[in-house]
Amino acid sequence: MNKLVLLKQYMISKYIRRFHSRKAIEAYQHKKIKKHLSFVLNYSPFYQNYYRNHQLHWETLPVISKREMMDHFDELNTVGIEKEKAFQLAAKAEITRDFSPKIDDVSIGLSSGTSGNRGVFLVSEKESAMWAGEVLAKLLPGSLFQEHKIAFFLRANNNLYESTKSSKISFHFFDLVEELHHHMSKLNDLKPTIIIAPPSMLRIIAEWKRDQHIDINPKKVISVAEVLEDVDKIFIEDIFQQTLHQVYQATEGFLATTCSQGVLHMNEDLLAIQKEYLDKENGIFVPIITDFTRRTQPLIRYRLNDVLIERKTPCLCGSHFLALERIDGRCDDIFYGVHKHTEKKHMLFPDFIRRAIMFSSEDILEYKVTQKELLSIDIKLKVKHDRSEVEALVIQELVKLWKEHMLVLPQFSFTEYDLIASDRKRKRIESVLKEEIQHETI
Ligand SMILES: [Zn+2]
Repeated sequence: MNKLVLLKQYMISKYIRRFHSRKAIEAYQHKKIKKHLSFVLNYSPFYQNYYRNHQLHWETLPVISKREMMDHFDELNTVGIEKEKAFQLAAKAEITRDFSPKIDDVSIGLSSGTSGNRGVFLVSEKESAMWAGEVLAKLLPGSLFQEHKIAFFLRANNNLYESTKSSKISFHFFDLVEELHHHMSKLNDLKPTIIIAPPSMLRIIAEWKRDQHIDINPKKVISVAEVLEDVDKIFIEDIFQQTLHQVYQATEGFLATTCSQGVLHMNEDLLAIQKEYLDKENGIFVPIITDFTRRTQPLIRYRLNDVLIERKTPCLCGSHFLALERIDGRCDDIFYGVHKHTEKKHMLFPDFIRRAIMFSSEDILEYKVTQKELLSIDIKLKVKHDRSEVEALVIQELVKLWKEHMLVLPQFSFTEYDLIASDRKRKRIESVLKEEIQHETI
C-alpha cells in the first residue's frame, strides 16, 4: 500500500478540494473527464473502437452496462488482464476466504449478481490507495491521526479494505459467512469505534445491544451493501442513539456517502452522474456514471442497475453534490402491473410499495414484499399486536396504490415472516418476475 498516495488523497479530499457552486463541480468534472478520455483512448482498445464514429463530447457518448463491460472485458481494461484469469482468482478467493492474491499489482473484486451475471472489477495498487484516502476522508469521524477501531461486516474481504490499515487505525473483518454467535463475542472484545455493515446485520447487532448481550458504544454506525429501509433505520438509530450513516459503494466505485446531516450525496468529485429518469416528477432515475479516477478499468457512461431518488430540497450541510432522498433498489426489483384498459405493463417503484406498507400501520416491525408473478404479490409481516387487523390495512393501501395507477388488481397473499439476517443480499422489496416480463415494457 502506498501510504503517501493515501495520505495525499486524504488531505486533498478532506481539507483542500472545495466546490462553491454546481458550476464549479461541472467545470472540474469536465476538465478531469477530458484528460481521462485522452488516456482511455490511448490504452483501451474497446473504447477506441466503441467511440470510433462518435464526436468526443463525453456527455453524449454511447452508454455501456455491465453486459458490455463484461463482454469486452479483455479489451476494455488498460492492463491486459483476461477475464477468465481474473474470474478464476476471484472465485478461488471466495472459497479459500483468502482475499490477498493479485495479478501483478491489481486487486480483483467480484460484484454480486446471479451466477451468469457477476461482474469482475480491477483496481490497481495506486487506485486502491487513492480509494482508501477518499473513504477515510469522507467517513472517519475526527482525524486520521486519532485512534479508530473499525469493524467491517462483509461477505467477502478484499485487498481494497485491508489497505486502510495503519498503526492508529485497526481494521477488523467480520465474515458474514461465519456463524452469527462468533461475531457477538468478537464485537464485545473489540469494542469498535466504527461499525460498517449491511442493515440486516446492523439490526441484529442493535438487538444484541438492546438485550445487553453486548456492551459497545460506537461513535459512528454505517450502513452498506443493501438498501436501507426506514423500518430498519429507525430501529438502529433508536438503539445506538445517533444518526445512521450510509455508504453507497459498489464494485463499480465509491458512489455516495452521507454528510453530517445524514443525507446521501453522490461523490461528484470522483465521478460524474447523469440521470436517466424513469419518473421525472418523483425524481426517480437510473444513474449513468463516468468515473474519472479509475484508469485500470475505465467506466465511461456506465449505466448502473440501481434506482435512485433525488432530493428536492437543498441539504442543510451546504454541499452542492447531488443529494439523494434514498437508494430505492435494483432495477430488477421494480414491480410491474397490467394497465386495466391498455393491458400494457406499468412500473411500480420500490418506493411506492415501501410507502404503502409504512403508511398502512405503525405496528409493523418488519416486512418483506415480493412480486412473484405479474398478478401475484406475497407479503410477509412481523407485527406488534393484532396481525389480522394489520393485514387488512396493508391490503387496503396496496389496493389503493394499484388502483391509483389504473392497474388490474393482483392476488395479495400473506405468508409467515421467516427472513434471517444471513440471507444473501436481504431485500425488503423484491421482484422475482422473469426477466422477459420486465423487459417487455422497456
Ligand atoms: Zn448534506
